[in-house]
Amino acid sequence: MRTKEGVSPEDWDKLNARVSRQDNVGTGTMKIRKGDKVKMLSGKDRNKTGKVTFVFPAAERLVVEGLNLIKKHQRARQQGQKGQIISKERAVAVASVQLICPSCAKPARIGHRLEGDKKIRYCKQCQMTI
Ligand SMILES: [Zn+2]
Repeated sequence: MRTKEGVSPEDWDKLNARVSRQDNVGTGTMKIRKGDKVKMLSGKDRNKTGKVTFVFPAAERLVVEGLNLIKKHQRARQQGQKGQIISKERAVAVASVQLICPSCAKPARIGHRLEGDKKIRYCKQCQMTI
C-alpha cells in the first residue's frame, strides 16, 4: 500500500522499529532534541506545535506528541477482547519541523557556539541558550 506521501504506515512502523534499535548510532548531531517544542512545516498538521517525545538521529526523524497521527487497527489479543482502532504518532523528518525558541516563543534559527569545551545551542534571534 502506498499513500500520497509514498510510504505506508506499515513501512513507517518498520522504519521506526529499526531506528529505535540503533537509536544512538547517528553520526550527525540533531539540531532538535527530545523535549523541544516544534512547529510542523508540512503535512496535515502544518502550523501546529507540539513537544518532541522521541528522536531518531540515525534516520534524522523525530516524533512529536499528538501530531502526525495515523490510525492503526489493533486486533484482539485475547479471546473476549475487542479489536480497536488506535491513534499513533508517526515519525517525521527533522527537516519538516522547526524549533520554537522557549525564550522568545518564535520559530528559532539555531546557532551553535562553544562555551569552554561544551557546544551550546542558541537562538539567533534573541541570543538565548536553548
Ligand atoms: Zn529566541
